[in-house]
Amino acid sequence: MTQKFNSSEVAQASQALQSVCENLSKLKNEELHCELKNRVAEERKLTHQILQIIIEIDLRKLYLPMACSSLFDYLVKEIGYTPASAQRRIDAARMMQQVPELGNKIENGTLKLTQVSQVQQVLRLAKKENKTQLLPSEKSDLLARLENKTGPESELILAKEFNLTPQTQFKQKIQKDESVRIELTLSKEQIEILNQAKELLSHALPGATFAEVITNLAQRYVKQRTAVRTSIKNHKSPSSSTESTSAAEVKGQSTQNISGKPIPSSVKKSILSPNLGCQFKDSETGKICGSKHFTEVDHIQPRFAGGGNEAHNLRTLCRFHNQYRYRAGC
Ligand SMILES: [Zn+2]
Repeated sequence: MTQKFNSSEVAQASQALQSVCENLSKLKNEELHCELKNRVAEERKLTHQILQIIIEIDLRKLYLPMACSSLFDYLVKEIGYTPASAQRRIDAARMMQQVPELGNKIENGTLKLTQVSQVQQVLRLAKKENKTQLLPSEKSDLLARLENKTGPESELILAKEFNLTPQTQFKQKIQKDESVRIELTLSKEQIEILNQAKELLSHALPGATFAEVITNLAQRYVKQRTAVRTSIKNHKSPSSSTESTSAAEVKGQSTQNISGKPIPSSVKKSILSPNLGCQFKDSETGKICGSKHFTEVDHIQPRFAGGGNEAHNLRTLCRFHNQYRYRAGC
């Protein structure tokens, strides 16, 4: 159901937002960072409390007299969670009943709801395949191993732990808008090269999905082949301009710096090694950005300040840190 706001309510909301933003704009950078950290800590504490309430509602089956067929149904229809959010909370609440310390781990941020959901999904699958069922103490140990891990890291630990058979079946389904849903498995090497292509295309296609990356690569190939065929047909040698333009576009970098000589391509290639990523360092914590998206060559000593194209004066920065560096004058 959509809620309509009249113009005075919209004006009121706009005024309230403006007032909050004005107050926030007065905070120093460090204060603003602390403000967000504190609010997020409160949010996690609240999530812990919500899980405790969900446990009690589940025990009482409170949703049944409210004409909801399940806890999931109740959380979606009565509380307003999206199906995915509702499922994550149910998974976490039920896990918390067996592993009580889970609530504190969610509250202090070492475990995320999505990781707990991943565990529950794997346990359901293992149960279905009649594989080992874990005792609460074993679940507790497993969750401890997932602390501070990313989603993909957790997935890998779980897949190895439960010896999950890799899915290799190719599925293709045509949908009502004639789009095609494809489910396929890529080997470790295949996904690595695809990820590398995605990083290289990050300038031309910011935030592209794999579908967009694959389509872009296919378009380039088709364009290249068509150009070659046309050249042969016209008894001309294939133009190399298409390829060089594409390569520059893929790299997404200008071949010449703001002023002066261009950076030799061999130097540029070594600086923009795909394994390096953005070298911007937080001067206080020493943390390095490491982003491999939108990478550009940066002159440590700027060109306008006499810096040259020697390798020792060059480093990789992501576009955002490159711009930030010049804006902040650091
Ligand atoms: Zn960066």
